[in-house]
Amino acid sequence: MKENIDRMRARHKKEIENLQSKCKHKKVSDWIPNMWAPGHIDGEVKICENCNKIIERKNESSIITKKDLLTPLSEFEEKHNITETRNDMEVK
Ligand SMILES: [Zn+2]
Repeated sequence: MKENIDRMRARHKKEIENLQSKCKHKKVSDWIPNMWAPGHIDGEVKICENCNKIIERKNESSIITKKDLLTPLSEFEEKHNITETRNDMEVK
């Protein structure tokens, strides 16, 4: 029987859980935006570079709402005080 997408997802989920439970999380990333869906950032997280498990999480006031997405960028930055990260976000 051919593996359908649901079975494949379920299998991957199990494999990832397996990997994460065995991993010692020795290499952890810096704070990165926790994007749980495109355009939806919920605070910041540090993840293991080996297994992608979330090691630390902070939410602060950096939760981006739908209203924020409609706000001009400069206003948004001012409100969330993130001007210093702007250079990283610029696409050239
Ligand atoms: Zn890990």
